[in-house]
Amino acid sequence: MLFKCSVCGFIWDGDDAPDKCPKCGAPKEKFNQLEEDVAQLVLKSRETNDIHMNLAKHLAIVAELAQRGLEIKLDPGCVDIFEKATKAAYELRQMIKAELATHMTKQKWG
Ligand SMILES: [Zn+2]
Repeated sequence: MLFKCSVCGFIWDGDDAPDKCPKCGAPKEKFNQLEEDVAQLVLKSRETNDIHMNLAKHLAIVAELAQRGLEIKLDPGCVDIFEKATKAAYELRQMIKAELATHMTKQKWG
């Protein structure tokens, strides 16, 4: 079950609310159990953030590989692919950063 601190928004996973909020120190009474549908959104949001982070890591590897390919510069066909990979990896990483930043600021699902 998920419990949310009504003071700071911290979300706690457990069978019961914590004695006090680990983030702001508010007492147990300040915690409310999240409704099942909201809890599902929080869990989905966490998993999605993990996927974004993981994807960004792989894109960094794509960028490194493409860079190496560009250095070797075997022929125009290869260079074209490595340039496209570099651009796509860069653009996707920027999009991921921007998306994660909106998750942080909006605290969409708590
Ligand atoms: Zn708190």
